[in-house]
Amino acid sequence: MVKEIQIRVQLREEKFTGFLERKAAHHLDIDKSEITAIKVLRKSIDARKAKIIFNYKLAVYINEAIPEKPAYSFNYKDVSNAKEIHIIGFGPAGMYAALRCIELGFKPIVLERGKNVQDRRRDLRAINQFHLVDEDSNYCFGEGGAGTYSDGKLYTRSLKRGDVRRIFENLVYHGATDQILVDAHPHIGTNKLPTVVKNIRETILKYGGEIHFESRVTDFVIKNNKLTAIQLKNDTEMPVNAVILATGHSARDIYYLLHRKNISLKAKSFAMGVRVEHPQEIIDSIQYHCKGKRDELLPAASYSLVHQVQNRGVYSFCMCPGGFIVPAATANGEVVVNGMSPSKRNNLYANSGIVVEINAEKDLRKYEQFGVLKGLEFQKDLEKTAWIAGGKTQTAPAQRLTDFVEGKYSNTLNPTSYQPGLKSANLHSILPKQIGGRLRKGFDAFGKKMHGYYTKEANIIGVESRTSSPVNIPRNEQLEHPEIEGLFPCGEGGGYAGGIVSAAMDGERCAESASEIIGKIK
Ligand code: FAD
Repeated sequence: MVKEIQIRVQLREEKFTGFLERKAAHHLDIDKSEITAIKVLRKSIDARKAKIIFNYKLAVYINEAIPEKPAYSFNYKDVSNAKEIHIIGFGPAGMYAALRCIELGFKPIVLERGKNVQDRRRDLRAINQFHLVDEDSNYCFGEGGAGTYSDGKLYTRSLKRGDVRRIFENLVYHGATDQILVDAHPHIGTNKLPTVVKNIRETILKYGGEIHFESRVTDFVIKNNKLTAIQLKNDTEMPVNAVILATGHSARDIYYLLHRKNISLKAKSFAMGVRVEHPQEIIDSIQYHCKGKRDELLPAASYSLVHQVQNRGVYSFCMCPGGFIVPAATANGEVVVNGMSPSKRNNLYANSGIVVEINAEKDLRKYEQFGVLKGLEFQKDLEKTAWIAGGKTQTAPAQRLTDFVEGKYSNTLNPTSYQPGLKSANLHSILPKQIGGRLRKGFDAFGKKMHGYYTKEANIIGVESRTSSPVNIPRNEQLEHPEIEGLFPCGEGGGYAGGIVSAAMDGERCAESASEIIGKIK
């Protein structure tokens, strides 16, 4: 017999071996010896009160053996000679679109502007050490997209739990820890993601798909409103049946290309701000009500904050406990910051984007001349200003949190995880008032919600500008662009995802739609 139960375990109880069996036996009113196995289905931490509790959902096997670890199987088949679907971009959306094409019996041909995960690493080093950004290979571009050297948090607001589970199981199938199937806040970590991405590549190649690295798509050939071919930067032209456009929110050249070709786009609301960095110990002490180091059984603490200021949300975004701040620019002449963390989340700092909603209708009046690309131009201006303030390298402008709120210049800054280094600057002179003013009030409110958060030991670093796409590429019910047959805007770049999991789910959806449509064509 298998019984599903929920139990609460105190932190001190976790330290004893066999605590789960003991608690489960007590809960079920049976003898411990009757329990043959226990499987953890879900685990979360409740740290709201001084006594920290772990909530467990368990499957308890009573006088019955636990089944072998499930081998997740996906219906991959040989597609070497099948109808082709072209996929531009090999981020989470492109990877999952390619895998789904194979399951559905179509041959994915992937074009990716960046390099494979190994070669990409060298270009990341060049950004961190020599401040040189390769426009095709950086923290956003290359195998696995922005999801590879990312934090690998797998949170999503999607309510389609079944679909989310499928995405997770596929990550486990490709080498991610099966702990992600259990944790309430699953996380892979930047040190583990490249192997998962490489394994996905190998599955695609094994079943007859193609992946072309260093193959930036530069043009579309459109005849009678149908996409008939794509052109690569080396001038190769590839005829196409259907194209899943999964180029992410940083591929500005793609937005410009579509705009130039009079393919309709829409301006979209997004968010921008800064990244704040605290010593992890401060966040731990606030969240776990402790002084000094947290208990070794507890993970580096995280937080989620939101506050409304003058009708706009100011909120934490992509919080990385025990992590690093990274230079996420995709071109020289701009500074963009983002965050990531290793699987153990054991770095000394906690960082998070703190961003302000930008309403595309109301907040971009100064940029109206750029029409649907107004948000993109606003984003570009801010990143350039940050680059100038940082000293025209990848060094980022920064200020102590308390100095920013009190309007003072920081004579010294706190130590940081940001490798290219920081330069003291007045961030209010970089950020437009609509962002800077709201951030000031937001930080003030956050300090009241989390006592100890508002501290001179924290730095804020500019600019966190790539939270989501400032542009939407429209699509109809079949997920095809309403004006261009054969073009399927997909993932974060299209405005249909905000993170790894939602991008992957959208990739699957686009593959299903594209294969259904081209499956009908003789
Ligand atoms: P992308 O991942 O952006 O992939 C697009 C791909 O298209 C890129 O590989 C790019 O090289 C390629 N491309 C672009 N233009 C062309 C072209 N013209 N021709 C050919 N190829 C092209 N999300 C989370 O959910 N959790 C996290 O913890 C997290 N941490 C992050 C940390 C960092 C440092 C960064 C940068 C992002 C993080 N994100 C995180 C966001 C997440 O990575 C993205 O939401 C996700 O990768 C979007 O997936 P996508 O496939 O739509 O686009």
